[in-house]
Formats: sequence, structure tokens, C-alpha cells
Amino acid sequence: MPEGHSVHRIARQFERNFVGRPVAVSSPQGRFADGAARIDGRTMTRAMAVGKQMFLEFEDDLWLRVHLGLYGAWDFAGEILVDPTIASANGRMGQTNQRGTDPIFDDAGENSLASIGAPRKTRAHVRMSEQTRGLANEGSEWPPPVVGQVRARLLTEQTCADLRGPTACAVESPDEVQKVLERLGPDPLVGDPAENERRFVAAVRRRNVAIGQLLMDQAVVSGIGNVYRAEMLFRAGIDPHTPGKAIPEEIVRELWRDWTRLLKIGVETGQMMTMDGLEGEAWRKAMASRDDRHWVYHRAGLPCRVCGTEILLEEMQARKLYWCPSCQR
Ligand SMILES: [Zn+2]
Repeated sequence: MPEGHSVHRIARQFERNFVGRPVAVSSPQGRFADGAARIDGRTMTRAMAVGKQMFLEFEDDLWLRVHLGLYGAWDFAGEILVDPTIASANGRMGQTNQRGTDPIFDDAGENSLASIGAPRKTRAHVRMSEQTRGLANEGSEWPPPVVGQVRARLLTEQTCADLRGPTACAVESPDEVQKVLERLGPDPLVGDPAENERRFVAAVRRRNVAIGQLLMDQAVVSGIGNVYRAEMLFRAGIDPHTPGKAIPEEIVRELWRDWTRLLKIGVETGQMMTMDGLEGEAWRKAMASRDDRHWVYHRAGLPCRVCGTEILLEEMQARKLYWCPSCQR
């Protein structure tokens, strides 16, 4: 499932390529035909992400709300504007100055947006979700032919975005959007940082529920999924079964600050880079391969990178949880 960093990156792509332009909206598959008709031809005025939800505002107070869920993805084709700060950050992110300036691409396409490279304008075809491949060749046809079950197609004169397999894709009023927003826990990249931290600390410390569950509860905190959950708890040395109310306030604050750090790195690199202090070749390997950039995620049965204990895998709330029983107490 795409975690918060991906959704922020997608919203930023819409901001660069669609906001301020009239958008032809259709539903090639038909399941979103009524919604598409309501916003078709209107100018997009705003794009924003909160946690795993994305909101695209159109003229006349109409919003398109999209939640990708487990299987959803956006495919972009045509002209794709690259954020120059993100494009260059991809080669520079992190803690050392030995990384050169060439972007490093994940072998599973996790940072696919960056794989369109340094030019500020490019004709490319980019798929934005967690596990899909980055770059595909684009034919000369415009608009591009519809392939598969496209729930929604957003098209400007230059850029095409196809949405497949979302959990939610709906046109909503400002009131409806507000109701969704009110149900969401804080997102480090949205709103007042101090207030966000206060809300998170209060929400965790009032609950007698395992912190491993609370971090996945989008009403407690927005945007964390399976990977960030496992990695954050390892980084903090917390047993995932510890009830929120049993964790000292200072530790909960540090968890929030760590989430803020990791999310920013994720948005800039396009990858869930959760290891600090990697140098040179180790950093390049980690950027290129998921198995080299996580402490515990996807490492069931392997020795802990710190203490050598076998990493455990269990189901928590029907999602896989990885952790080290020695480092996390
Ligand atoms: Zn360990």
C-alpha cells in the first residue's frame, strides 16, 4: 500500500502539471462516469494530500477525493514537470556528502517519479504507487490509448493521468471533504507542527491499545503504513505490543519527530529510506534495493542488523508486523 510519502508526491505532481489548467475528466471504465461528468472541463485549483488521502479541488467548490488503498496507482504520461528541488535532492539526500549527484533508482521502481531524470520537462510515462515499475516507453499517440481498467482519466493538453484500482474515487462538496479531514489524525506536512505533535502525543497516550496498532490508525496519525510502522518502532526501540498510555511522553514525542523526519526523506527521495548514517556504497545499495534500506521490514527469520536476534513476523490487525524482540522492549 502506498504510504504517506507517495501520496504527497502524487499531489505535488498534480500541483505542477494540472493546477491552473482546465482538465478533461472521464471514466473509461465507466464506474466513475457520473462523478467525472460533474468536474469534466473545469479548472483544477488546488491539489493536496493528507496522509493517504488526496484531494483535488476544481472550480465551483467541487473536490475529487482519491484513496489508492492496497492496489491503486496513478500513471502519468505526456509532459511531466519535475520539481527541481526534488530532482536534485535525490542525489544529495541524507547524511553524507559522498553521494554524488546522479539520482539512484530503486530496482522495484519505488522512486519512479525521480526516474524521469533531471530535465525539467520530459516526455515520459511514469507510474506512481509503491511496488510498480518506473519507466515505460511512450508511444506517439495522444492522448495515450486506454489500457486496462482506468477508473478516472484526467487530461490536459500536455499531461495525462490515469487512475486504476483505487479504494475511493469520489466527487465531494467542501462539507464532505471537511468531514473526511476531521476524521484524520495529524500529518507532519500539513498544518501547524506544534499542534500536530500535541494531537499525536495526546491520541497515543490516552489509549490502552498497542502502539503497533495505533501507528496504523489513521485517526491517530495520518500516512503511516506497514513499512514505516515497523521501522519507526525499531528505531525507537519500542516493543510493538506496548500500550500507548504506557509509553513515556518524551518517547512518544520522539516517535512523532522521527515520523516527521522519515516522511520528509520519503517525499524527497521517493523511497522509504529508514536507515541513517549510510555512507558511500552502502547508501547507493540502500537506495537501489529495498532489502538494503530497512532495519526489520521484510526481514523475518534473518538476524537483526544490530544484535543478531532472529527478526520476528506476526500478524497485527491483519497486517504483517516485523520486529526484533531483543532491541525492542
Ligand atoms: Zn536486535
